[in-house]
Amino acid sequence: MSQTQTVLSVRGAQRRYVKKGQAALASADLDLHAGRITALLGPSGSGKSTLLRAIAGLERLDGGEIALGDTVWSNAGTHIPPETRRVGMVFQDYALFPHLDALSNVAFGLKGKDAKAIAQAQLEAAELGHKAKAYPHELSGGEQQRVALARALAPSPAVILLDEPFSGLDRRLRHELRDRTVQTLKAAGATAMIVTHDAEEAMAVADELALMDAGRVIQTGAPEDVWMRPVSATAARLLGDVEIFEADVTNGRADTPFGAVDAAGFEDGRPVHVLIRPQAFTLSLDEAGGFAIKRRRSAGTHLVLEFAPAEGDTPHWHAHTAFPSPLHEGDRVSVELDPAYVTVVKR
Ligand code: ADP
Repeated sequence: MSQTQTVLSVRGAQRRYVKKGQAALASADLDLHAGRITALLGPSGSGKSTLLRAIAGLERLDGGEIALGDTVWSNAGTHIPPETRRVGMVFQDYALFPHLDALSNVAFGLKGKDAKAIAQAQLEAAELGHKAKAYPHELSGGEQQRVALARALAPSPAVILLDEPFSGLDRRLRHELRDRTVQTLKAAGATAMIVTHDAEEAMAVADELALMDAGRVIQTGAPEDVWMRPVSATAARLLGDVEIFEADVTNGRADTPFGAVDAAGFEDGRPVHVLIRPQAFTLSLDEAGGFAIKRRRSAGTHLVLEFAPAEGDTPHWHAHTAFPSPLHEGDRVSVELDPAYVTVVKR
């Protein structure tokens, strides 16, 4: 299938803002694929914005390369200016021109006599045809964001980059707009990258997820695969709750407080991390069990059971379980692990 055709590639991208300081991009690799939405997820300061800006041509590279197909956009000696890169951008604050109405905002980057007609069609695709004459201050935050997306898509860019596009909106609107944005990008067949620091948002929008940490892309893949099979403790933490245990492999197994788990593929003596998602735990009422429920709370769609060794309060671990549960605070339990939610990685 042509689904995995690479449109844009980033290879070993390096960018250092301050001489001798830590690199914002240490050596980042990323492919954007035709018609796919890539979510770039990482903590604050991990280099997401720098990578986005480097792709857009707003930052230079000190090393490595960014190329659109066979055309090099950036390397240590080359810097194609942003206006000649075929990139559409949507910023966190929308960055609409306040003195232009919605239609003129969308038509801004278009040339030729059809500009207004193309812009009008783009606004209509965003279900904002009736707001063509409205100025940005007359539009809601969500509508402004939709105009910004329409403006970015209008010139049919090769790639479209969205920098934390939903973070200025309240939660309910954010969900609605996020679904709408995905639909719009899909309808346009756009090759897109959405930068976010919100794991749930990344999982919700991504065809492909790219995890970033300390100036590198540390893992890419389908969101579910990355969640199920993180490559490191850092990658696992980026995607939400996980319990992490240190172990040394013995006879192809790694010890945890809940028994040894399969560590096939690791040589004996190898230091590893055992990563356990909260969904892995099954807790069962057991008078002779080695653990006790310390706290029981609802997380809206599931229960969180905090449990610990029966003797003593620490350490403390988290299990997620469906409603209803017969377990209560103080209950003695035994613990079983579902290996589907357990990953062993190098330490
Ligand atoms: P993120 O988008 O993941 O929060 P950034 O790309 O904004 O990360 O920043 C990566 C690193 O580069 C951070 O340490 C940040 O402080 C630094 N940085 C970003 N922009 C500049 C700049 N213009 N000048 C100096 N340092 C910068």
